Amino acid sequence: METPPFSELGLPAPLLAAVEALGFERPSPIQALSIPPALEGRDLVGLSQTGSGKTAAFTLPVLARIDLDELRPQAIVLCPTRELAHQVCEEVHRLGAEMKGLRAVPVYGGAPIDRQFRALRQGAHVVVGTPGRVLDHLRRGSLDTAGIRTVTLDEADRMLDMGFREDMETLLADMPEDRQTLFFSATMNRQVRALIDRFGREPETVQIEQKAKTVSTIDQCAYEVRQRSKVEVVSRLLDIEPARLSIIFCNTKRTVDECTEALLARGYAVDRLHGDITQQMRERVLKRFRDGVVEVLVATDVAARGLDIDEIDIVINYDLPQDPEDYVHRIGRTGRAGRSGRAVSFVFGRELHRLEMIERYTRHPIRRERVPSQEVVEG
Ligand code: ADP
Ligand code: MG
Repeated sequence: METPPFSELGLPAPLLAAVEALGFERPSPIQALSIPPALEGRDLVGLSQTGSGKTAAFTLPVLARIDLDELRPQAIVLCPTRELAHQVCEEVHRLGAEMKGLRAVPVYGGAPIDRQFRALRQGAHVVVGTPGRVLDHLRRGSLDTAGIRTVTLDEADRMLDMGFREDMETLLADMPEDRQTLFFSATMNRQVRALIDRFGREPETVQIEQKAKTVSTIDQCAYEVRQRSKVEVVSRLLDIEPARLSIIFCNTKRTVDECTEALLARGYAVDRLHGDITQQMRERVLKRFRDGVVEVLVATDVAARGLDIDEIDIVINYDLPQDPEDYVHRIGRTGRAGRSGRAVSFVFGRELHRLEMIERYTRHPIRRERVPSQEVVEG
């Protein structure tokens, strides 16, 4: 889809300057369709696949509606995970770089709450956080919601999956009635629909039609691999793939630990990410991965959603995910913003049936391939 230039969307000059500085040449389809109605203050439901630029689609209109002279929270963005909240807050800083005095504060569990108290007391225009911690601040009286104009739910479906429904409902019910609500998601389901029906005011739905749920620039294949050969095959893959950064998904924390240890022992620049790792450590690991110090990241689905790291060339499903939707989100970590990427899934025996389920869900075939032979590695 050919989109009009950013300058025709009605965005104020500081935001256009930031977009240009970031090297965004044209708005992505979801941005082109979402920004004008969101700027008018309309409620919006934005649906498009991962990697399609949803963050800027809501961040730009949200920032456009901030009054910098009024230093109190005017916008809240809710995200399902700490990593995502951190990342979205960074994007707010990047896109708001030309807005003098803009203050955006991340608020999520795992980080010291005292520091968040201080940051909020010093004043924030935008608050980005996970529902639980944002609600916590609301209850402790450290978050003033009276001036809120926009509430954004990023990955609403995922937040519901993660059990944040009540927190989200409490938060939404507490926000000023005349606020704007923006619902963004890669997927729509009945629960999301119910939330929108309850809290949206005649929202406009913007959906980017997609033939398949997975991005077409991702090359997808499956290897038949037995459990006991997984370490061997994964290291062979890491050796022959010309990937800069690779991400390996496992279904459990324990498998993440085992896989990481095995790869460490074989000398790879590897680190791990899962729910038992402290927030501080997770941020450190992600930074090292972004910087390329760590080249292989082993993770559970905690890291599957939203993480936006450009140079991930290959996603390996060390374990096939239970849920086809998780598959979509995992492999969506590569092939971002039109780049190409590769996804390899290990399957065996009964799992072949699950692989077919994934293919039906994504409406995209996954090539069955033989595990590359040792000769290829040595040759
Ligand atoms: P989503 O939330 O839909 O999964 P993101 O908002 O994380 O996608 O964006 C994916 C990537 O695309 C990011 O690296 C972002 O910087 C980049 N991006 C966003 N909008 C544009 C644009 N208009 N032109 C080029 N790159 C863009
Ligand atoms: Mg996103």
